[in-house]
Amino acid sequence: MPRPLHAVIHPQALQHNLSRLRLAAGDARVWAVVKANAYGHGLVRAYEALRAADGFALLDLSEAQILRDAGWRGPLLLLEGVFEQRDLEMCSRLDLWHVVHHEAQIDMLSRHKTQVPQRVFLKMNSGMNRLGFAPQAFKSAWTRLNALPQVDEISLMTHFANADGESGIAAQQRVFEQFSSDLPGERSLANSAALLRYPSAEAVLADWVRPGIALYGSSPDHGVNDAAHWGLQAAMSLRSRLIAVQSLAVGDSVGYGGAFVADHDMRVGIVSCGYADGYPRHAPTGTPVLVNGVRTRTLGRVSMDMLCVDLSVLPSVEIGDEVTLWGSASTGQVLCIDEVAAAAGTVGYELMCALAARVAVEVD
Ligand SMILES: *Cc1c(COP(=O)(O)O)cnc(C)c1O
Repeated sequence: MPRPLHAVIHPQALQHNLSRLRLAAGDARVWAVVKANAYGHGLVRAYEALRAADGFALLDLSEAQILRDAGWRGPLLLLEGVFEQRDLEMCSRLDLWHVVHHEAQIDMLSRHKTQVPQRVFLKMNSGMNRLGFAPQAFKSAWTRLNALPQVDEISLMTHFANADGESGIAAQQRVFEQFSSDLPGERSLANSAALLRYPSAEAVLADWVRPGIALYGSSPDHGVNDAAHWGLQAAMSLRSRLIAVQSLAVGDSVGYGGAFVADHDMRVGIVSCGYADGYPRHAPTGTPVLVNGVRTRTLGRVSMDMLCVDLSVLPSVEIGDEVTLWGSASTGQVLCIDEVAAAAGTVGYELMCALAARVAVEVD
């Protein structure tokens, strides 16, 4: 028998989340962001559930090739654009749209030999200071692109640094509008957080929205609003089983470093799941976990292949009983990945993406 640890991907949750986001998006078209192997869910698996999207946004040519091979004929967008000259040949061959965020990418386009001009998304750095043309350089970049026979339609985009936080999007939105208002073309601004938090702002939804994390059922602003608040369902569950049960007397410790010491006689469950599976090693004692659908907590340090859980509230559980690390238990109770992430000092994004290759994946 293989290790009992497995991830379950829930296609109906992906479909539900997409409809939920489409509703919020109004008339805007929806890019399903499927970079990073669809945030750990599996690119083709996610694609099959998300075919109702208007397009797929990703990073790698190889991912684009996979979606074309899987039969997707609609728009595909390379979010970081091309990295070298010959990538443009693949863009022509696979009919990819790509982001242009840097002068060097315009140089490459100007040297590209093609009969069929390409659709590009010109990116403005409106304040995040990662990718994009400075606002003052935006129009000249547009003018240069527009003069190239290699370029077809030019769309305009930017990305928010604080859509999930208190400072919000207003300042960046203002900059984007100010320096793009006299340019034609479709616009794309909103990630999950902007889409969910500013759904009545037409200028934010614009022509295309770009949700990623919310598609997978994690809240983009957990801590303020949880996934249930946004009506999102977990698309990934990580489930395992108890492979041992220990009895601790007062003063006994469990795990490496003796980091947890029992202050009463208690039973402890050993779960087949550790940091080599993608469970966060920094999850401290007290991180929530479900055993047979009942909420309890982890104890002591997470080790490579195992972690320990408190069975004080579960007197009758035994070896083989189900443990849900995040997502839904097979009996339906839910432990949001964002809660586990918060306990470990990270975000749901990182946990999903870190799911290890050795973890078997099933589709619900
Ligand atoms: C990853 C990414 C998104 C999606 O962000 P979420 O926070 O996951 O919704 C949108 N736009 C760009 C440019 C991205 O890189």
